[in-house]
Amino acid sequence: RQEVYRELRKKPSMTRDGVQVDLLMNAGLAVDLPQLAEAGAAGIGLFRTELQFMVASTFPRAEAQEKLYRDVLEAARGKPVTFRTIDIGGDKVLPYFKGAIQEENPALGWRAIRLTLDRPGLLRTQIRALLKASGGRELKLMLPMVTELGEIAQAREIIDREVRHLSRFAHHLPTSLKLGAMLEVPSLLFQLDELMKAVDFVSVGSNDLFQFVMAVDRGNTQLANRFDTLSAPFLRVLKQIADAGARNHTPVTLCGELAGKPISAMALIGLGFRSISMSPASIGPVKAMLTELPLDELTAFFDDNLMAPAQGLPMRALLQAFADDR
Ligand code: PEP
Ligand code: MG
Repeated sequence: RQEVYRELRKKPSMTRDGVQVDLLMNAGLAVDLPQLAEAGAAGIGLFRTELQFMVASTFPRAEAQEKLYRDVLEAARGKPVTFRTIDIGGDKVLPYFKGAIQEENPALGWRAIRLTLDRPGLLRTQIRALLKASGGRELKLMLPMVTELGEIAQAREIIDREVRHLSRFAHHLPTSLKLGAMLEVPSLLFQLDELMKAVDFVSVGSNDLFQFVMAVDRGNTQLANRFDTLSAPFLRVLKQIADAGARNHTPVTLCGELAGKPISAMALIGLGFRSISMSPASIGPVKAMLTELPLDELTAFFDDNLMAPAQGLPMRALLQAFADDR
């Protein structure tokens, strides 16, 4: 298998009928970087910056943050990297964060962009480190757990201020700055066109989005196998997102666990995703699926089944049968 995957790295990242799909990897620490070449990823679709904070015993200093981001960009050798601003709170706890509060529902609580907008010093330090590390290169930044578009505007103000600050001191700035939002809170589903217009790109956080759409705690093992990520309602949600991205010419990607299983990756591509980000170990298996995939047939399959699954069968069973037949 490993041998097969290694051979596959040389092949273009395309469906059998020639449609390009970018396979990116998720990362979060310097130790992940060699995987970029080993897995043959097209770039880093999600760099979880909070991991540096989670393995530390105190807030990483600005210099340490900048160094990590610079190392990541160096290792990427021009491949795109999307940095997510710190996503702490909820299931990601920092024991040394004195401002943390006891919450009855941490997943629905003071976390991610909500927390960093309330503690703008944290965000400012991180953004400054990212801007400095990206001097002369493109910077792609994305905001976790966006619920309202106002949060994007607020973050953008902080970013603009840091850009002005650095340019006053004649710092080498990024050649371009792209700001994206993670789509993981259902409120955004009801303002998809406005969202697509408000950002340069959108990345679906399917782990959290599934948790919130189905009202099922992502960490609860009792419920782990109860609801299906490939059920028709969730696939329809994903289709609406892909369609809204295409309609507004806003790039859309997906960086949750869903992207890493060949059968789900196949579904995502059939629904219109042309870029997905996964753990490095998944790239080989997903690429093996991709290069065999007749996308025209899969598109027709979804046209026929997404709104009215054949014989009322579960979408997962129909997708599995589609894959087995081919
Ligand atoms: C997600 O929610 O799908 C995601 C990619 O982010 P995380 O798993 O880090 O919350
Ligand atoms: Mg998430």
